[in-house]
Amino acid sequence: MSGPVEGLRSVKRGKVWLVGAGPGDPELLTVRAHRLLKEASILAYDELVSPEIMAIAPPTAERIAVGRRANGCRHHEARIHPLVVERALAGRPVVRLKGGDPMVFGRGGEEAEELAAWRIPFEIVPGISAALAAAATANIPLTHRECASSVTLATAHAADGDPARQATGIRDATLVFYMGLGRIAETCAALIAGGRDPATPAAVVSRATMPDARVVVGTVADIGRRVEQAAVQAPAVLFVGEVVARRVESVVVAGGYSLGAVR
Ligand code: SAH
Repeated sequence: MSGPVEGLRSVKRGKVWLVGAGPGDPELLTVRAHRLLKEASILAYDELVSPEIMAIAPPTAERIAVGRRANGCRHHEARIHPLVVERALAGRPVVRLKGGDPMVFGRGGEEAEELAAWRIPFEIVPGISAALAAAATANIPLTHRECASSVTLATAHAADGDPARQATGIRDATLVFYMGLGRIAETCAALIAGGRDPATPAAVVSRATMPDARVVVGTVADIGRRVEQAAVQAPAVLFVGEVVARRVESVVVAGGYSLGAVR
């Protein structure tokens, strides 16, 4: 059947998947994220997503770069890229890939709100957030029965609030600051001003889970200086809390191990 009525019938909207890409290592994608990437025909991605992960999508997939700077979370005026909305309204499925987890400093909530306003169906696929990835890279437990009963994920980004606010709250909380590499000294000064002991252990973990990951350990009083001396590269998170002192050095064995090679 065709005719003028056909043209008036509204197109079924395409679904948008807001997918967490994890911290960078492709092995840390979820099985679902990996499948969606392999099947993607339209891929909208942040600059923080690694090229190895982008390479999983078919070469024929349309790639839409959603201009975010790799070291921060600058965003355009629009909450979701207009092309993503356009494609979904035209009935096309879109994989919207975000670094880490979409709902942790990823503005996943804002994008979801906008999709809902357009009546575009969406689904959120969680990913490993930087705090969890960096804790694993540095062998830092985020909670510990003896010294950390909660974890706060905070931003040290000046535009998003005053880091001193994070100093108040549960005394034995582990604090993890995102987006703060250029502001470590200010963040720590604010914590001390807020009552944290300057001797509180602190660590900065950069490029967690990647081959060039680095860990710098100190205290709230000196971590800013140590990080500056070590010329640490973004992206990085700052840990503050007794758990940093509980990090355990792993035994390094020449040649390494593989699960399949046990004899
Ligand atoms: N949604 C992301 C966070 C985006 S904000 C997530 O859940 O991880 C970007 C910040 O995340 C960076 O400024 C940095 O603080 C942190 N980050 C992202 N990837 C990282 C990595 N591989 N190692 C250390 N920090 C990382």
